[in-house]
Parts: sequence; C-alpha cells; structure tokens
Amino acid sequence: MGRGLDGLATRCVCRVSKRVLFGRSSKRRQRPVTGRWGSRGSAAVTIAARLTFDNVARRFGSVHALRGINLDMAPGEIVCLLGPSGCGKTTLLRLTAGLERPTGGRILINDVVVGGQQVHVAPERRGVGLMFQDFALFPHLTLLENAAFGLKSLSRDDARKVANLALERVGLAKYADEYPHILSGGEQQRVALARAIAPRPGVLMMDEPFSGLDTRLRNEMREETLTILRETNATCMIVTHDSEEAMQMGNRIALMREGLLVQTGTAEELYHAPVNIHAARMFSDMNEFLVVVRGGKVDTPFGTCAAKGLSIGSEALACVRQRDVQIAAPGRGREGRVLNTRFLGETALMEIGVEGLEEPILARVREAQAKQPGTEVGVRVNVKDILVFAVPADG
Ligand code: ATP
Repeated sequence: MGRGLDGLATRCVCRVSKRVLFGRSSKRRQRPVTGRWGSRGSAAVTIAARLTFDNVARRFGSVHALRGINLDMAPGEIVCLLGPSGCGKTTLLRLTAGLERPTGGRILINDVVVGGQQVHVAPERRGVGLMFQDFALFPHLTLLENAAFGLKSLSRDDARKVANLALERVGLAKYADEYPHILSGGEQQRVALARAIAPRPGVLMMDEPFSGLDTRLRNEMREETLTILRETNATCMIVTHDSEEAMQMGNRIALMREGLLVQTGTAEELYHAPVNIHAARMFSDMNEFLVVVRGGKVDTPFGTCAAKGLSIGSEALACVRQRDVQIAAPGRGREGRVLNTRFLGETALMEIGVEGLEEPILARVREAQAKQPGTEVGVRVNVKDILVFAVPADG
C-alpha cells in the first residue's frame, strides 16, 4: 500500500511551480490563470508530458524493489500499473515524483532527465502531481483551501479562483467554505482529485485512488475521474491491485511482478495473450492442470494442444478459464456431476466433479444455465481456449 501523504508528499503535490502551471517556458503557451476553465466547470487542458523510465532500479538494502523498469508513456496517456502487493508499484510512483532516488537507470520527463544517480530534480520542480489512496485532506482547512493548497505560486485571489473552478469541476463548489468532515468518502475523494488537478500537472500519479470507496462509489469515481483526466489531458499513471479497474481506466496496462514489468499492452492484449501464468491469473479465475510436454504438445483432460517454447519432458500448466468451461447434456463431453452451485447474481459458479480428475473443476455460467447439485452433466472445453504455460518457480 502507499505510504500515505506524508509531509514531503504533500509539498510535492502542492508546490508546483509557475512554469508547470503555465506549461513549459514557451511564452506562447502562457495564458491568464483565470478563465481557463469552462463556465460549466470543465477542466482546463494541461500541457501533457512524455514520461520515460529507462532501466529504472531501486534497492532498499538487500530488497530489490525495482529491477530495471523500461516504459515510455506518451503525452496524455493513461497507464494502469497493476501487480500484487510488494511488487514495487508505489516505489515507482515515489521515484517519479522525486520522493525517492533511483539506484539505477533514469526517469525522463519530456526527454529531460529528472531522476538518476547523478541528477535529482526537486519534487516541486518536476510538474508531477500525486494522489494517494488515503487522500488525506487537511481537516482544519476548508475545501477551497484544500483545493488551493498546491497553488502557492499564484496570488491568493488567483489561487482561490483556480481552486474554486477545480471544485466546480468535481461538483463541490457549493461546499467551498465547509470543512472536510461534513463530506462523504466519495466527496472527499472528489476534493482530493480537485486538489491534484488544480495545479495542472503535466504528469499525474495516482496510488490506488479508489481503494477506500465502496463498490458503487468506486465505479462512479472511476468514470468521473476518467472524464476529468481526458479533459485535463495529463499523462497519468494509476496504481491498482484490481485488474477490472486497470482494464476500465488504462489506455495501456503495465503488469508488474517482483520489481519487473512482466507485460505491457492494452487490456485486450493482456487478457487474450498473457505472457505467463502470473499475467493470466491476474485477469481470470482459472482451472489449472499439471501436464507434461511431449513433442511440442501437451495432453490435457480436454484435448491435445500446442506447447510452444516449452522443452520436451518438462512439466507445464494447462489452464482453462472458468468461463470457458461449457456445460452440456450428459453423454456429451466428459462425464460430470454438479457438487455445488453458488449463485452470484448474473452468473453462477458451479463446482463439478469430473470423471478421471482428482480435483473438481469450476465453471462460471450464466445464472439461467446453472444446475442444481447432484445433476449429471457433460463437461466440454474448446481446445483453442486452453492456455499452456511453464510452471513458475514459485508454483
Ligand atoms: P502495495 O501494493 O502493497 O502497496 P507495492 O507494489 O506498492 O505494494 P512497494 O511499496 O513499492 O510495493 O514496495 C516494494 C518493495 O520494496 C517491498 O518489498 C517493500 O517492503 C520495499 N520497500 C519499499 N519502500 C521501502 C523502504 N523505504 N525501505 C525498505 N524497503 C522498502
């Protein structure tokens, strides 16, 4: 989890230089601070920045939190950083914001090195905004003061105007003079978003920004945030544990594991062509069968399929997504008996004992197709739906 909005992080979020507010030094781009937000509260456009990670590494003593990250984010792109706890997501965000220094490699913004072993541009000079999962509004400041906190380089009046427009954009301008405690969790999240976008950072880093919200609010906030991000055009990295969130929000997903980028691509690419078993498990619940590679193929309980790149005689995992298990009439496919059925609303999860298999398999079917425990069924899987991977060292 993120380490929260400590003092340093707060300053980083908030003390964004005038150069960032107005875009890079080009005079042509400078416009008055006021009037850049539409009258109905649309967000102002940021000068989006290219963000590049060039073999970035970070060690903490013997812990290799990042082992050589290479990633190039186009201006305005939204990349979701997805991976299990401890894989290095927050560390990458902190390095980008300048709260930590890399022990190897370089971080570049618009092709200028901002973080490396020899170079360390101060957080407040990077134009990188941060929003943490615990979004920590200042309880003793009004919403307007909270939203204006990162606008120290503006005159008081201009800062208030910009902050007010940011609050307007998230639909909370009417509470500008109230204090955070009167707001619901979702509303507080909106204020945090207003605070993060008010300085118009070229790069915005969000660390599990929706994890503190309940499911319904989370969905609303994801959509709302996407709209605002598209309007502001900031280059954005969103850290999440949640593959659905990553698919919903990211132009691309960068999948991490143990300090490395495992796979980067669109949601479709990662879902349909996962590079290894970890990537596949991240996106789908699967049935896994231990098999042995013979002549470039594996025999699975549901047919023979290719095992590209795996050495003859090695063990492999043949995987079938729960939703790819087909339930047929008895006599068609393998013989099975329903052991348990759990209704999950629109779908149901059936546990089925299959003749010849030691472990039951799990099938996710539409609710109307679910069968009661004890029902005899046929179980089939299309061979093209079977994924084959090397057995990972850690199982
Ligand atoms: P989570 O999803 O749980 O937030 P994460 O993917 O963000 O995890 P990080 O917080 O980046 O992971 O941590 C990566 C590794 O680096 C972990 O093993 C963590 O314990 C270690 N680590 C991070 N910061 C420090 C630090 N300041 N000192 C020592 N170890 C650290």
